[in-house]
Amino acid sequence: MTQTVTGAPGSPSSGPARPTETLAARMGPLASLPLFFKPAGRRVAVAGDSDGAGWKAELVAAAGATVDIYAPDPPQAMLRLARELPERVRLHRRAWTPEDLAGAMLAIGDFPDEDEARRFAAAARAAGAPVNCVDRPALCDFQFGSIVNRSPLVVGISTDGAAPVFGQAVRARIETLLPQSFQRWAEAARRWRAEVTARGWPFRLRRRFWERFTAMAFAAPGRAPDDAVRDRLFAAAEDDAAEAAAGVVHLVGAGPGDPELLTLRAVRLLQSADVILHDDLIPQAALDYARREAQLIHVGKRGHKPSCTQQDINALLVELAGKGLQVVRLKGGDPAIFGRAGEEIAALAAAGVACEVTPGVTAASGAAARLGVSLTHRDAARRLQFITAHARDGALPEDLDWRALADPAATTVVYMGLATLGQLAQRLVEAGLDPGTPALLAERATCPDERVIRADIATLPQKARAMAARGPALVIIGQAAGLGAG
Ligand code: SAH
Repeated sequence: MTQTVTGAPGSPSSGPARPTETLAARMGPLASLPLFFKPAGRRVAVAGDSDGAGWKAELVAAAGATVDIYAPDPPQAMLRLARELPERVRLHRRAWTPEDLAGAMLAIGDFPDEDEARRFAAAARAAGAPVNCVDRPALCDFQFGSIVNRSPLVVGISTDGAAPVFGQAVRARIETLLPQSFQRWAEAARRWRAEVTARGWPFRLRRRFWERFTAMAFAAPGRAPDDAVRDRLFAAAEDDAAEAAAGVVHLVGAGPGDPELLTLRAVRLLQSADVILHDDLIPQAALDYARREAQLIHVGKRGHKPSCTQQDINALLVELAGKGLQVVRLKGGDPAIFGRAGEEIAALAAAGVACEVTPGVTAASGAAARLGVSLTHRDAARRLQFITAHARDGALPEDLDWRALADPAATTVVYMGLATLGQLAQRLVEAGLDPGTPALLAERATCPDERVIRADIATLPQKARAMAARGPALVIIGQAAGLGAG
């Protein structure tokens, strides 16, 4: 998780803001700390006569531990375990003693008697061994989760004892998501890892290699990751290496707010970027896709403070790409719609920096979807026009095409139109638009705190004031806006 840190040290309270680095957020509360222990070659002490104790012994033995079991009256399954794994499991047919716990990496006990469980836990802790007493959470330093085993790929699941059945269902779901063959793929990854490292590729190329590897594993899980697969992956990576010596800037659309509206490509680019320059209005969940090492730089408006100048942003993009970095310039909605993409594309081209654009869901599409409105309509809207009602000086632009905007068979979507909404509505009516024309306002469309107003163009400004709409908000005007879900 990441969060934006506002107020760069020493930044002036007026004048253009400076790009501000975004720092990783604190981890939320964790019911337990998932750790993956490596008990291979170490000694683990297990005490108790139950099948539960035997099963725990089997688990730790499967992870390579040498297990000493102390059980005066062992059940059948335990006897069988000791018979079948004599080199890993030593069965002592007697009660445990505190000396048995000395030097143990872990101590696990299962006792019907509460007092004995307490004594065992105290002895284990005195010996410095983390302890687990089966079904006695108060006497546990660690718990066993449910396991999905595709070793070396291992998934552990815990509900901290809150909901075992739920945990089992989650496990069953993960089992179906991970084909059995992933074990072979995970083993192959382990075999090829050293070779990938030895090639000396920069991070993003290594990442690209493993992305391709993963895509192949998911696409053809039944296929064995054999030498032919290996050769294909390394050949593709060498091609990438030849191409990627230079940095690149990706202008990426983040959609209108709901992180589910990010494109798959946006997610992939966010996951592999070295640096991400982002505006406001970018959902935190989108920034969470960034890898932890990525540098996040905030370049948008903060509160009522001015944004960074476009020249600063352009210069920063050129500088970062010049260092050979993979840069993502993340913008709300679609970068090519009122997103100043044109200025950045031109600046990058002038500096000879490669630039690629990844479209996003524009606010108009997001709002229309939420409002149940079709922006075009065979009967009611032959034309769709996107305008901004915010000129460079903040006023209503004078050069809008009022005849087109008064067309009763058009849908007009107004970006950045909140401040000048009253004036716009008046000018539209003066230009001949019917005052009863349906008009909708969507504030923070697709976000959890979205608000909408359904009115007509004559009454919308007053209703927007009454709601104290703050934006970002979008206005949709036209007969088609009145034919929605209502
Ligand atoms: N590139 C963006 C638009 C950037 S201009 C896009 O394609 O959507 C900023 C304006 O977009 C805001 O003033 C507002 O009019 C609109 N906007 C952006 N996100 C919005 C949202 N979630 N709900 C309503 N309007 C939004």
